Amino acid sequence: MKSEPVKSQPVKFVPAVAAPAALSARTRCFVVRQLGLVVRSEGAQVFLPELSELPRLGLSTADLQYLGRLHEEDCFALDAGRAELSAPWAVQSLRSLYDQLTEEEFGVAGRAVQIATFAVTHRFCGGCGQPTTRDAVERCVRCRSCDLVFYPRVSPAIIVLVRRGQEALLASSARFATGFYSTLAGFVEPGESLEQTLVREVFEEVGIQVENVRYFGTDLSGVRLVANDWEWSLGDGAPLHGNAQDLLLVICGRRIPENLLEGTPSARFAGRDAEAG
Ligand SMILES: [Zn+2]
Repeated sequence: MKSEPVKSQPVKFVPAVAAPAALSARTRCFVVRQLGLVVRSEGAQVFLPELSELPRLGLSTADLQYLGRLHEEDCFALDAGRAELSAPWAVQSLRSLYDQLTEEEFGVAGRAVQIATFAVTHRFCGGCGQPTTRDAVERCVRCRSCDLVFYPRVSPAIIVLVRRGQEALLASSARFATGFYSTLAGFVEPGESLEQTLVREVFEEVGIQVENVRYFGTDLSGVRLVANDWEWSLGDGAPLHGNAQDLLLVICGRRIPENLLEGTPSARFAGRDAEAG
């Protein structure tokens, strides 16, 4: 397990919309398929394709998107479309790459997934159906027919560790693997503040009202556009019920059992936070 704090915006990444005239000697292409990346594995290490390798992977570069520079290397995003990949290239989920990419790479990967998906899903105007054109300066596409402008969609969300003293509240969903528990999370609805989302989601999922919020940090890098971590405390003896398939109030002392924290950055964060508490 890594020792870094919760993932944050990449600090050594310089974003840009237009590629420079002279590209860096080495390039990195974040080739996206759904929530995964095309990578080549060598032992525990993974490698991203370089720009020069894309034709050999059978990938069209028509929708190639420049992302910016990471450690002086130019980075691109591209949707893999239906290209059939052959060894040694394969799609690996972002979540599974969490431990194999650096924090900066993971941040750019999250950005790449969002931008590549945006490029594919906004080829046509949602207002009049005409083809859109990519803006040369801003990260957006424009419709020349009806003047609508479309920016990449972001989906703000909250994730929260609900605590009562040394206890942490985790829940399991019907869509989780058996025995998998996580902290509570949810997407912000139109017109909601993050705090309102937090209160609503916790009540919907486990049927309790929470209070005493403490903001922890933001994470815009990753897997499901996860955004904010908060910490709340509960009054003693709060009844637990709600829509989650199952609930687990973990008596964790200073540490949540490792077997309950497998698999997600948010759960690992919960473990670190409980240890720190
Ligand atoms: Zn239009």
